[in-house]
Amino acid sequence: HGPRTGFRRVLLKLGGEMFGGGGLGVDPKVVETVSRQIAEVVASGAQIAVVIGGGNFFRGSELQQRGMDRSRADYMGMLATVMNCLALQDFLEREHHLDTRVQTAITMGQVAEAYIPRRAIRHLEKGRVVIFGAGVGMPFFSTDTAGAQRALEIGCEALLLAKGVDGVYTADPKTDPTAEMYTEITHREVLERGLKVADATAFSLCMDNKMPIIVFNLLTEGNIVRAVRGERIGTLVST
Ligand code: UDP
Repeated sequence: HGPRTGFRRVLLKLGGEMFGGGGLGVDPKVVETVSRQIAEVVASGAQIAVVIGGGNFFRGSELQQRGMDRSRADYMGMLATVMNCLALQDFLEREHHLDTRVQTAITMGQVAEAYIPRRAIRHLEKGRVVIFGAGVGMPFFSTDTAGAQRALEIGCEALLLAKGVDGVYTADPKTDPTAEMYTEITHREVLERGLKVADATAFSLCMDNKMPIIVFNLLTEGNIVRAVRGERIGTLVST
């Protein structure tokens, strides 16, 4: 396998669980690491948009298990993602002096712009970081799906899935010591081997539209810019 080529525009998907450092709320240390790494990407001249999950506050499926109406619970989850977006925006602007815009799939004019794809592209072209909140704006979907959909709609060349593990493994590395990490794999092989990269809706969107996915460890400093430059980190899922 030769060197991977770099990307001009990427979408970074961050899980809410990461963002909260494993707890409830936002972990400033994680936000700081993410912000520093995003600033490196902008400095490299590449364009970056971000989708953040909301699992550090609420997940619809978990609230449903406690008796809540699923759609209402999902809206709580979507609103939770917006808090993460604002926290990231604040760090990016105040610590790194980057221009940022938050666009949400549920309109809330006082807090963020509405999701307008062409406008998002213009922001990116001007070197701004665009942060997408509220997922795709519909119950029963996930922020992984929002990441895949936004990446496709605004013309990103790769979906970067930042995780707490180094990549995609043959088995769960936390429970199986023989688990090995793939450096490259195809979308089809992921399906055939029943590996878990993203949820099914998100993954099939990527597979059907040949969107490459890079799974890598967020907590290794500098990994985001490495992924954008096309360095061989984590697992590359491609067609
Ligand atoms: N959600 C939703 N529609 C979307 C995106 C998110 O209903 O398009 C809700 C859903 O309840 C989900 C919650 O928001 O559980 C938080 O998002 P997600 O679970 O994807 O966050 P992550 O696991 O990445 O932190």
